[in-house]
Amino acid sequence: MISGGCLCGRVKYDISGELGDIVHCHCKTCRKAHGAAFSSVAAVKDDDFTLSGRESLSSFESSPGKVRQFCSVCGTQVYAKREGTKHLILRLGSLDSEPKSKEKNHIWVSQKASWYSIKNDLPECQEFE
Ligand SMILES: [Zn+2]
Ligand SMILES: [Zn+2]
Repeated sequence: MISGGCLCGRVKYDISGELGDIVHCHCKTCRKAHGAAFSSVAAVKDDDFTLSGRESLSSFESSPGKVRQFCSVCGTQVYAKREGTKHLILRLGSLDSEPKSKEKNHIWVSQKASWYSIKNDLPECQEFE
């Protein structure tokens, strides 16, 4: 079982299935939302995700149909959800467990912060893929 939650502990989750491959997203909305150079994410099937403390979540639709869910008290970004999909996009900084997934790539490198240098051998996609 993989588990995680927000900084203040009000929001917690368990994942019963597999996490998808790890993607590092450098898009401007991820940078702003996370207050960081990039956001590392992986897909989780809706059916595998058990959330507690939902009442503490706030959400923000950062682009049409894409909603970011974060703790309204401590601000931790927990997951994002795209309308009409059967999975959510977990924000891996919220994990308490070690995921077994492998890193896949960097995306939205066209919007990468100029003050961060990518130094590894993963593929770099200018946009989504
Ligand atoms: Zn919190
Ligand atoms: Zn992004």
